[in-house]
Formats: sequence, structure tokens, C-alpha cells
Amino acid sequence: MTITVRFAPSPTGRIHIGNARTAILNWLFARKSGGRFILRYDDTDAERSTREFADGIATDLDWLGLKPDEVYRQSDRFALYDAAAAKLKADGRLYACYETAEELDYKRKRQLARHQPPIYDRSGLNLSDEDRARLEADGRKPHWRFKLDQRDIHWDDLVRGEVHIDTSSLSDPVLIREDGSYLYTLPSVVDDIDMGMTHIIRGEDHTTNAAVQVEIFEALGARAPAFAHHSLLVGADGKGLSKRLGSLSIAAMREDGLEAMAVVSHGALIGTSEAIEPHTGMDTLLQAFDLSKLSRAPGRFDMAELENLNARIVHQLSYDDVRVRLAGMDADGGQGFWHAVHGNLSKVQDAGEWFGIIYGDMTGEIADEDRDFISQAAAMLPDEPWGETTWKSWTDEVKQATSRKGKGLFMPLRLALTGKQHGPELAALLPLIGRERAIARL
Ligand code: GLU
Repeated sequence: MTITVRFAPSPTGRIHIGNARTAILNWLFARKSGGRFILRYDDTDAERSTREFADGIATDLDWLGLKPDEVYRQSDRFALYDAAAAKLKADGRLYACYETAEELDYKRKRQLARHQPPIYDRSGLNLSDEDRARLEADGRKPHWRFKLDQRDIHWDDLVRGEVHIDTSSLSDPVLIREDGSYLYTLPSVVDDIDMGMTHIIRGEDHTTNAAVQVEIFEALGARAPAFAHHSLLVGADGKGLSKRLGSLSIAAMREDGLEAMAVVSHGALIGTSEAIEPHTGMDTLLQAFDLSKLSRAPGRFDMAELENLNARIVHQLSYDDVRVRLAGMDADGGQGFWHAVHGNLSKVQDAGEWFGIIYGDMTGEIADEDRDFISQAAAMLPDEPWGETTWKSWTDEVKQATSRKGKGLFMPLRLALTGKQHGPELAALLPLIGRERAIARL
């Protein structure tokens, strides 16, 4: 049996780090087992789902390097759902209900006032053919509920361990709305059966759905796949992420210049017993990945931690890794430039600033009290060719001649040559700046 998993986003928005984590875990699980990774758009909600969001999600997954083996849209597959619904109706598992939202709300409030659990009272089940005909003649349209078996459903969740849910504690779920549209619950099961899903890896907000879905799998003559319900991410403040999705969208992270592998490493290892280490390629991440290392506690997402991880990845990237992205920054062949600056970058795009500083027409900063010292130092600049040792031999001489040392020696030179207090090693920068520009700046 081929291991088969899916990432099933509803294309009603772009994906954020929380959904991306689900995609990453599924992709890794499939790759690790030589299985199939399916991308399935849960787009039965025609009003909220858009093609643009679906395309955006595809772009995000592609950028993350999570290539699906197969792609499906639920909106292409209604015939299958209709057939399943017809079977459930024929078997008496799907029954028509006619209450309005207000009536249901009223029932719930009354139950709560009586300290009863607000579970649907199954009035729909007791309607006779005449009752239904009368309601429909009144202009009411049915919505359809799945009749739960009201029993203990249990499974060995790959993250949460043994889970028991008594479905008598749940309302019979609505599977089809009044307008005939499907809620996510049934199409998902129909597809999971049709596509041969062996494992469902998703957020723990679906744990209760799983109990309902186990019953639907069985009602459709199938066996439920294995489940792994991972915890959800919370922010550094311990609160859920949902309110701040904008900046946490994968699109925003890409536009901000984060490395896809930083996002993937973070998404894969957050909330696991594994240290969050930077992985520059999927191969080492695959080795570190194991679903059983996922903790049940919520994973804590901290943008500062992701940025830190990003910087650590950038420090490991070779010139070849970034050559295409450094287009136009290839003075001196580019390699030396990357070598000099990359250890100081948080993001690859920040190389642009250093490119301007090294090769551009800039004036550094010289404080009045350093003017004489800087002129003296300028006069001592050696002739070219310059190399890695030029900085040391030059500043050794300047030190002797001016008796300045430490910060008093180096900081004015750094400020004059780069205009910045911090940055890459001057030993690496100086040969790239070159004598002509250095003289001009000093
Ligand atoms: N479309 C559902 C969601 O985005 C999928 C849940 C599932 O994986 O079954 O929450």
C-alpha cells in the first residue's frame, strides 16, 4: 500500500505559517516513506473560494519546495459527493431537517437554560412524509444531517495517542446546506476514500471532526485512515495566530526576503522534540523529521526566531546558491563580494546595501576630531594589488605612526570607509573597495 497523504486547504485566503506547517509535515511524511503527497483544494464553498487564492497557494507551496504529486479541486468532483449523499440518504444515515437558524438557536438556548447539553434533538428524524410535504409547501428547503451512531469512536492518533470521542455527545452534523451545497465534512471523506488516503495529518482543531468522519467512512463502506492531529501554533505571547495572519502569510515572508528553507525548517521542527536548526536542503531535514517527535503542546511561533534561523541559513549559503538572486552584483566576479558580506547578512537581499557601500559612490563619516588621523592613514595606504592581508599591514603601520589602537584606531576607519559602525570584516571589504575609492572616502 502506497502511503498517501494530502494537504487540503480551502482557497478562501492565502496560507500562513500555521497551514504551511501542515503542508510541510504532510510533504515530509510522504517523501520520507516514498509515498504520494496530494494537494486538494477544498473549494466546495463557491462563495468564499476563489481561483486566485488557489493559485496563490500553489505559488506559496512551490516556493517552499513542496511539490504535490497530484492536484485536485473538489469543485470538479460533485458527482462523487452526490452519489455518496444518495447512498447515505438511501441507508437512512442522512436525514432532512427544516429548522431555521433562529429556531435552532432558540432550541439551543432553551437546552442551556435547562442545563442540558446543546445537542440537536433529532426532530428531523421524526417528521412524517406529510410533515415534510407541508414544510416544503410552506417554502422551506431541507438541510441534511448525518445520523451519528452515538458510540465511542477511538483511534490511536499518531500525535495525540489514544483518542476517545463519544459521538452521543455531538449533534448530528449538517453535511448539506439548504441551498444544496456541501459542508467540508462529507466531500473530504469521499475524496479521502477515492484517493486512497492512508494518513490524515492536520491540525488538532479537526479532532472532533475525525470522530464524525470515522463514522462517515464506515457508513460509506470504508475504513478510516490513520490520523495525526498536530497541535496548533501560538504566537510568542501564547495566543493563537489567527488574528495576525497578514504578516505571517507565506507570501509576506517571501516578499520580506526570508529563505524558503528557513520557513520550512522552522515549520517542520517547531513544536517537536528536535532543536530548531537551520537546514539548507530538504535531505537533512528529512533525516531529522519524524512525526512521533511532534509534541502535543502548542508550537510557539516567534518571528524573531525565524529571522534568526534565516540569518543562520544565509551564512551557510554559497555564492552558487544565490548567484541568480545577486543579479547585477557581480563586480569582481561576485564570489569575493558574497564571501566578504554574507556572514553579516540577515537576508540575502541585504547584500544590495553592502554592494552599494563597497562599489558605490558614497562618502563615509568622518568626525572633526578624526580628520587629521584619517588623512594620515590615507597617506599610508599601500599600492595595489590588495589582498586579505592588506588591512592588517596597513592598520599596523597606522597604529605605529599614530599610536592609536583598538576602537579609536578601527572605528574612524570603518566609519570613513563604509559609513557604518558595524559590518563585515574590513580585511575582506578593503580589497573590494580598492585603493581609488578608499582614497576618495578617506
Ligand atoms: N479544508 C480543511 C481545512 O482547511 C481540511 C481539513 C482536513 O485536512 O481534513 O481545515
